[in-house]
Amino acid sequence: MAAMLIEAAARVPEVEISLYCESNDEATRDYKNRMIAPLRDLLALTKWVASVDFITFEHEHVDLELLKAVPGIEAKLRPNSTCVAISQDRELEKKTFQRLSIPVAPWCTLGSDINDVPSKSEALIPGIVKTATHGYDGKGQVSVSSKEHLTAAMACLVGHRCVLEKRIPFLREVSQVSVRSLDGTMQHYPLVENIHRAGILSVTKAPAAAYSELAQNFTSRLATDLDYVGTLAVEFFVMDDGLLANEWAPRVHNSGHWTIEGAKTSQFENHLRAVAGLPIGDCTAHQPTTMWNIFGCSRSDAEAVVQAVKESHPKSSLFLHWYGKSPRPGRKVGHITICEEANSATNQAIAAQVDRLQITE
Ligand code: ADP
Ligand code: MG
Repeated sequence: MAAMLIEAAARVPEVEISLYCESNDEATRDYKNRMIAPLRDLLALTKWVASVDFITFEHEHVDLELLKAVPGIEAKLRPNSTCVAISQDRELEKKTFQRLSIPVAPWCTLGSDINDVPSKSEALIPGIVKTATHGYDGKGQVSVSSKEHLTAAMACLVGHRCVLEKRIPFLREVSQVSVRSLDGTMQHYPLVENIHRAGILSVTKAPAAAYSELAQNFTSRLATDLDYVGTLAVEFFVMDDGLLANEWAPRVHNSGHWTIEGAKTSQFENHLRAVAGLPIGDCTAHQPTTMWNIFGCSRSDAEAVVQAVKESHPKSSLFLHWYGKSPRPGRKVGHITICEEANSATNQAIAAQVDRLQITE
C-alpha cells in the first residue's frame, strides 16, 4: 500500500513522502527517499522522526511501546496512537464499538488458561476463535462447532489472548471507506460489498445496496469519537434488520483500491491530504466499479488473463495494478479494477478466470 500512497503523492504537490521501511520491501525498492532500518533501532527512528512533519503507516501492527520511546512521535502520528491501539486488539475494538452503540456479533474473551472456559462461550458455538492481536487475511482464526473443538482450539492458541465470536449467518459483507480531515470534516465513499475466499478479500463491488446511511453514521461516530485523521474503513456484516460491525482499519483499505480509477479522489490521495492537514477531495464515484484481488499468481499469468479479456472485450474499462512483490500462495500481489457494472461481460470474463488469479495453496 506504501507504493500506492507514493503514486498518489504525485497528485498532491504539497506532500513529499519519506519512507521508513523495516526491510528491503520489494514494492518500494525504486523509491529514492527511503530509509531501511528495524523499528527497534531507536537512533535511526529518532533521526527519521525529526526529519518529517507527519507520520502515517501502511498497516496497524506496529509496536506502540517502541514508538512511544521516540521523542516527538505522538504529535506527528496521524491517525493518533489510540486509533492504532484499538484497531490492533480485537477485544478493545469490540468494546469501543459497543461503547459507541455500534452493534457487534455476540462475543467473549478467552484467557490463556484452557481449563478456564467462560460459561458464556457455550452460547457462542458454532463460533470463531480469533487471536486478539496480529490477525489479518483470516490468519489467527479457528472455526469451532462444539465445546470439544473450543478446548482444542484454545490448546492450539495457548499463550495468545483470544476472543470467541458467534458465527454470524450474514446476508452479505460490506465495508465503509471514509475520510476525516484535521478540522473534523468527514466524507464517505459509497458503501461497497466484499466477497472473501479462504478468509482473503476476493472481490469488492461498488456500490453496495442497502444500509449505506447506517454504515456512514457508524463510521462517522467512530472517527469523531477517536479524533481520527485520514482514510479509515469499517467492515460490517449485513443482517435482515441492520448491520453488525466486524472490524475496522485505521488506514487505506483493500476494499478502497477501486477508488483509484472509480472515484473523483482516491482513498490514497485523500489519506495524504488529510494527514497533511489539507482539505479532502470529492469521494463521489464516477460509475459502478468492481475490484478483483490477485493473490498467489505470477505477473505473467495475471497479464495473460487481462490481455485475453481485453482482446475478447475490446471496449472494456479494465486496469491491472501489479505491486512488484514475488508471489506466494495467499499473498496479495496486485488487483484488477473494472469500471463497469458488477454483472458486465468484462466482470463475467474475469470471474471465469478467477481460479488462475487467486491462488491460496
Ligand atoms: P481479518 O482481520 O482476517 O480480515 P475478520 O475478522 O475480518 O479478520 O475475518 C475474516 C473473514 O472471516 C470475514 O471477512 C468473514 O468472511 C469471516 N468471519 C469473521 N468473523 C465472522 C463471524 N463472527 N461470523 C461469520 N463469519 C465471520
Ligand atoms: Mg477483515
